[in-house]
Amino acid sequence: MANVTELTLTLKRLAMEDEFPDLSKHNNYMAKVLTKEMYASLRERVTSSGVTIDQVIQTGVDNPGHPFIMTVGCVAGDEETYEVFKELLDPVIEDRHGGYKPSDKHKTDLNAENLKGGDDLDPAYVLSSRVRTGRSVRGFALPPHCSRGERRAIESLSIEVLDSLSDDLKGKYYALKNMTQEEQQQLIDDHFLFDKPVSPLLLSAGMGRDWPDARGIWHNDNKTFLVWVNEEDHLRVISMQKGGKIKEVFSRFCTGLTKIEALFKQRGHDFMWNQHLGYILTCPSNLGTGLRAGVHVKLPNMSKHPEFEEVLKRLKLQKRGTGGVDTAAVGGVFDISNADRLGFSEVELVQTVVDGIKLLIKMEKCLENGQTIDDLMPSQKYTPPPRPSVGGN
Ligand code: ADP
Ligand code: MG
Repeated sequence: MANVTELTLTLKRLAMEDEFPDLSKHNNYMAKVLTKEMYASLRERVTSSGVTIDQVIQTGVDNPGHPFIMTVGCVAGDEETYEVFKELLDPVIEDRHGGYKPSDKHKTDLNAENLKGGDDLDPAYVLSSRVRTGRSVRGFALPPHCSRGERRAIESLSIEVLDSLSDDLKGKYYALKNMTQEEQQQLIDDHFLFDKPVSPLLLSAGMGRDWPDARGIWHNDNKTFLVWVNEEDHLRVISMQKGGKIKEVFSRFCTGLTKIEALFKQRGHDFMWNQHLGYILTCPSNLGTGLRAGVHVKLPNMSKHPEFEEVLKRLKLQKRGTGGVDTAAVGGVFDISNADRLGFSEVELVQTVVDGIKLLIKMEKCLENGQTIDDLMPSQKYTPPPRPSVGGN
């Protein structure tokens, strides 16, 4: 019997030409970059936890993408994936993150005091504010590749850490498998919980395996600080509340996240991080800060304006429907958030949202009063169009 490594590499796989996926109709970053020659050399490699190139690209092979919506088309199975398969991943990262080069260095700033403004975005327009990120625990494979046992180990470790938070962060863990369908749906409808693994992007990547085993949500008593366990990332950390006090939301986000990181460290577990990629997450689109700061905001007039998309692009913002990624906006209410993740600090990204939302509300008010927004158009700034990550995020 072959040992595991030999087996992984010799599962063979016929000749390279017989194995190379048909990417001719694809529109995703992976398909743009992957050539036969690259595939030939990458299929001879495997990370120490056993991730192969076929696992990395499977989601992008199965999901060709859409002519106008370009997805990423690949995921990491472990921390080493980004190094071992860098011939593919570096150009994908560069393309997806607006020219971020392999020699570039990422920066972190989790001090909410550095944010200017955002104390109270106009609550007549801003219904709720939210800041989220992901974190991966070093030493464990990521959700597309982790074993059932590893996933359970992440869950127990997370419960132990989260249960030791106190004061306004004191809360409780709810395992998905112990919830009734109704309880689960209620949490989804209230925007607190991730959706069921219905997205083909997520399923092809292997993230729906064993569902709902070892998945769950932890939240504080006020439901203003929440942690998702074992969805697209080991951890998704979320701070949210009704209204426009995004600074308060960001401040709680920074405090909670910093505490969680320290508690994991105390138990001998670092988060995956390096100077170049920042925090390492499953989808290459989330590398860096992993941060998405957004508000649900009423823009019934502005969203019908022919320049709406252009304004968002110039402000480096993206839009989603209020039911989450891939949902449509209802009644002119949108989820507007930062488009970038990597190469900018957390504070810079939240600042982009604060400044951008203020301008969008100003524009909305002008349109309400029958005035033009020509004088308010932001200047042209290059930014790649907003794109969903593989898990939809
Ligand atoms: P992410 O991947 O950033 O977590 P999704 O688009 O997958 O975001 O949405 C996850 C859930 O979070 C959805 O229920 C969505 O409605 C909710 N959500 C996102 N932004 C906000 C916000 N600003 N206020 C309230 N709920 C939000
Ligand atoms: Mg998501």
